[in-house]
Amino acid sequence: MNQKNDSKDAAFDVVIVGGGMVGAALCALLANAGMHVALVEAQNTPLLPATLKLTQPTPRVSALTPVSQRLLTWLNAWPAMVSARVTPYHAMHVWDGEGSGEIRFSADEAGVLVLGHIVENDVTLAALNAQIAGHPKVSRINGARVEALQTTATGRWLELNNGRKLHAPLVVAADGARSALRALAEIEVSEDDMGQHAVVTTVRCETPHAGTARQVFLAGEPLAFLPLTVAGDDHYCSIVWSTTPDRAKALCELSADALGAALGNAFEHRLGQVEVRGSTHRFPLVQRHAREYVQPHLALVGDAAHSIHPLAGQGVNLGLIDAAVLAEEVIQAWRRGAPWGDERILTRYERRRRGDNAAMLGLMKGFKLLFGAQNPALTLARNVGMSGMNRLVPIKRVLMRQATGERGRLPTSCR
Ligand SMILES: Cc1cc2nc3c(=O)[nH]c(=O)nc-3n(C[C@H](O)[C@H](O)[C@H](O)COP(=O)(O)OP(=O)(O)OC[C@H]3O[C@@H](n4cnc5c(N)ncnc54)[C@H](O)[C@@H]3O)c2cc1C
Repeated sequence: MNQKNDSKDAAFDVVIVGGGMVGAALCALLANAGMHVALVEAQNTPLLPATLKLTQPTPRVSALTPVSQRLLTWLNAWPAMVSARVTPYHAMHVWDGEGSGEIRFSADEAGVLVLGHIVENDVTLAALNAQIAGHPKVSRINGARVEALQTTATGRWLELNNGRKLHAPLVVAADGARSALRALAEIEVSEDDMGQHAVVTTVRCETPHAGTARQVFLAGEPLAFLPLTVAGDDHYCSIVWSTTPDRAKALCELSADALGAALGNAFEHRLGQVEVRGSTHRFPLVQRHAREYVQPHLALVGDAAHSIHPLAGQGVNLGLIDAAVLAEEVIQAWRRGAPWGDERILTRYERRRRGDNAAMLGLMKGFKLLFGAQNPALTLARNVGMSGMNRLVPIKRVLMRQATGERGRLPTSCR
């Protein structure tokens, strides 16, 4: 199959729609195995390490687990990320702003080197794009959107808004939470509006972050200060404050000084005075789960399959494992000459991923309900439970293995 065909119609082994972190990782996995891949992305120009602006951190960050780090290392993206900016964290501290409950985790207790890294999404994406830029097995189609989807006996046709038509035995939706391809495939989604918006910005604090990710629960509103080291300065933090839509709007309208004061107060000045150093954005928090991840010749990955409350920083970590598992199943089938777009092959991917993703979505909902409870008995139980658990190292170790992504049978690229 000629992936470099510049005529209007072209055939590939796999077409991926959406070149975010998950789509780009999937593209690199498949292309490195020798499959011909087309990557269709709505943005005009792909981010590359050389085009990153690193003077100020960008406000969208992710807490990447060691499992994600291993996948990014397998893809050879990690070294470029380290050269750009990644901030390891060795400890986590979570407390209840409504009481005395708290829990602390450390890498030492969990028996690992780091609990994870805070990384700007642009840094991850640029490093992944560098791996697929100029790859002989990849055709990148920028500035294009999918307009129509048709089924054939051997695969799917995609029609793009630039008039191009692409055919493949497998098309993958990696086009995010509001996936257009998922809608074209008429896959239903269960939606759970969490009644919150996440406010994100970057701050510099009076006290260094000491490689610790911190989160306080303020009546069910998690406020996270995630450590960032910028050119050796370890006073920076990335903020994620999940709060009511009205309050989020009001916070975004504050002056930088007033927002810094509001953040400092809400965070009980645990890191001293807070100075806002970046732009402020807000995102509505809606948990979504696709009713099916696969159809004949079609699969969903990442936020197109599930979007999750950011309070435990799991979204892209789950999406990267989706990409690794789907790639593993598809490459195995392709290598043995089996039809890799066949629903039986794709169902193996869904079986391996749905349970893990569903469990994490349920857990986030439970956390939000538990920490949002105003009932005094529940508040007491929550505080006693948190502090009691803090003293139980074996239980904490199990929790840490979950949080660091070490769950279930991981694909080879993540081990
Ligand atoms: C405030 C906040 C904090 C978060 N923190 C964390 C965290 O700490 N850890 C974590 O793991 N996750 C976190 N997440 C979640 C994480 O950001 C997402 O899970 C992740 O970005 C999803 O990646 P994706 O590649 O699946 O989708 P996206 O990042 O949404 O990428 C989709 C891509 O598809 C393209 N596209 C869209 N529509 C089309 C179309 N029709 N045709 C072609 N291309 C299209 C887009 O341009 C984009 O490039 C957070 C989310 C929020 C909102």
